[in-house]
Amino acid sequence: MNFNALPIALPKRRLISLALVLLFGAQAHAALNVVACEPEWASLAKEIGGDRLSVSSATTATQDPHRIEARPSLIARMRNADLVVCTGLDLEIGWLPMLVQQSGNARLAPGSPGYFEAGRFVTPLEVPVRLDRSDGDVHAQGNPHIQLDPRNIGKVASALAERLARIDAPNAAAYQERLQAFQGRWGASIAKWEQQALPLKGVAVVSHHKNMSYLWAWLGVREVGTLEPKPGVEPSAGHLSVLSAQLARQPAKMVVRSAYEDPRASQWLSDHAKVRAVALPFTVGGNDKATDLFGLFDSTVALLLDGAQ
Ligand SMILES: [Zn+2]
Repeated sequence: MNFNALPIALPKRRLISLALVLLFGAQAHAALNVVACEPEWASLAKEIGGDRLSVSSATTATQDPHRIEARPSLIARMRNADLVVCTGLDLEIGWLPMLVQQSGNARLAPGSPGYFEAGRFVTPLEVPVRLDRSDGDVHAQGNPHIQLDPRNIGKVASALAERLARIDAPNAAAYQERLQAFQGRWGASIAKWEQQALPLKGVAVVSHHKNMSYLWAWLGVREVGTLEPKPGVEPSAGHLSVLSAQLARQPAKMVVRSAYEDPRASQWLSDHAKVRAVALPFTVGGNDKATDLFGLFDSTVALLLDGAQ
């Protein structure tokens, strides 16, 4: 590098920072900024992108992904993002459109390559035949909590690798290579989990919210009720009593909630209906074993087998 060619009027400090940019600039530019709406997509992006991506998640496992606050720090992250990876299916309708708008970042506008919705690449469950507010917080495009069927994760992984290749064409082959490696490990893990989870087929459970439907459909678990009287409506004493009476006639093995949900309603039902209360991680970071997507499903299957004993 020939510093003599640089204008001599530059102060020393600027020369040093210029040298740093010249030395490390290429590397720093190579990293795409990815903001995921939920931790599962942040993890998936890391699997596919490795250190070509700088990834953060807008929500944690202990936050309700339907509703979060648009903090200024989050708007700032959106401003610098090359790509947002979200669930879609209206899950983030209460906060994402506003965040994208406030960020002023045109790369993230819906329909742009920088706007990725995982829900577009899976077959949604529970698409309502009619939309009526009296049915609660029902999502028009179907149940958005798609991440607990690992086959969905596989589909989203392929779509995400394709999207990364489109945004960052010079690294397309690298994304494809990492995708292949991930799909190999993921397919083998799915086979393992399905084998482990065979005893769960037909087991009756109560969920807190309708956010485990894909997990139950995958494993053949029967959901016989929810703590919420309607989606998004808080569990009430009246509804819990009805549920408890129902379980006295038709027992269930466990009452299941996710890491972000208030444990009191499940605890009440557990005490009154003598069913085990089980807290599932729900997403990456939801317990100390769910440190990545593989850990999420290892832990989920193990907790359910334990609860079904
Ligand atoms: Zn929901």
